[in-house]
Amino acid sequence: MTCPLCKNQESTSFIGINDILFWKCPSCYLIYKDQSYHPTPNEEELRYMHHNNNSECEGYVDSLNQALEPSLSYIDKDMVGLDFGCGPEPVLAKMLEETGAECYHYDPFFFPELPDERLDFVISTEAFEHFFQPYKELNLITSLLIPSGTLSIMTHRWKDDTNLNEWWYMRDQTHVCFFHDKTFEFICKKFGFSLEYDDGDKVIILRKVVAWEF
Ligand SMILES: [Zn+2]
Repeated sequence: MTCPLCKNQESTSFIGINDILFWKCPSCYLIYKDQSYHPTPNEEELRYMHHNNNSECEGYVDSLNQALEPSLSYIDKDMVGLDFGCGPEPVLAKMLEETGAECYHYDPFFFPELPDERLDFVISTEAFEHFFQPYKELNLITSLLIPSGTLSIMTHRWKDDTNLNEWWYMRDQTHVCFFHDKTFEFICKKFGFSLEYDDGDKVIILRKVVAWEF
């Protein structure tokens, strides 16, 4: 099976939670759901509509703050950024605008238009685990950033000691890929980022290397 991130062809399969077929890439350590278990676009949209992700939901705002707080060290008032994969309500973009920065929002289901200017920062919370084609999405995000722009990502990472038969994060039907520390090492090398911040669990901030050219 070809890894949808690094294209290595030697992924090995295993049966995980709910008897679902997963693949694990030996090169970039991405774990990904077999395509036959991917949700349909309708299933995805329904699931995202019913997420309790709005500004009135305290738990959701707290969770966004875990990504926003460390990101603010890299964001100035005059910067322009993007909330990538915002869901039905652009809560994070609104929170960011309260700090004075300008923030677009994008979501393939709810706000499918991308800004046509290059951005100082991209923040993507609880979106990476939904990517069917992580290589393509990372290519897109990288191309949207100015050289030296930052990319904040919040997605729960699997560790060497994670029990992949029980891990709660794999239960969500719409979660289709799971990143490891080594996956982010690969992403830095492949897409030209350096590591700026890592909470060791789910929030990581990368900076685009200045001289990177496509
Ligand atoms: Zn891979």
